[in-house]
Amino acid sequence: MKHSAFNLNGQNQKIESRIVVALERISEAFRVLLWNESKENALSPIQIQILIFVYFHSSEKCKIGYLANEFNMTKATVSDSVKVLLSKNLATKEIDPTDTRSYSLTLTAEGKKIAEKASFFASSIEEPIEKLTQAQKETMLNGLLKLIYDLNKSGIITIQRMCFTCVNYQLENGIHYCKLLKSRLAESELRVDCPEHELI
Ligand code: SF4
Repeated sequence: MKHSAFNLNGQNQKIESRIVVALERISEAFRVLLWNESKENALSPIQIQILIFVYFHSSEKCKIGYLANEFNMTKATVSDSVKVLLSKNLATKEIDPTDTRSYSLTLTAEGKKIAEKASFFASSIEEPIEKLTQAQKETMLNGLLKLIYDLNKSGIITIQRMCFTCVNYQLENGIHYCKLLKSRLAESELRVDCPEHELI
């Protein structure tokens, strides 16, 4: 019989189950940290995530449809959050001149201020990672990239802008290469969110 990763009897016999439970603990840390940041700004966690995303991404990625895919939510849910950001004067609409029904979100000065500060919400997760050895960091990054890739392929998470799903990525004899940058990529240089990413 198949055991749940959360069943302690099976879990302690299987490293994969312990990794799943460890990831669940980490996701709990993200949830708590994001919640604390949201409370400070009287916003919801998704509103904070949208502010941070818009702050760091190009305008074609800041449309309702793209944001809904990015956060695995319906367009209606994202629209509701965006309405709050607009009403609080943290964001404005940038109408697409080729399609006046479509718009991108841009941040106001106040929105940028909150996004800049909130973007450090995960620092207490980054600090312990900095203490790992380079080899540990590379193994961790590689394992996580493969996990994200598989979750994306099985449709559990949608938009990804990682090397493994990019038209410019090549793997030959175990060597990673970016055709756009015309450069070999070390294990530690593989990207999770690349601004030049082009989906295969
Ligand atoms: S363009 Fe970016 S995502 Fe694509 S292979 Fe190069 S570094 Fe990776």
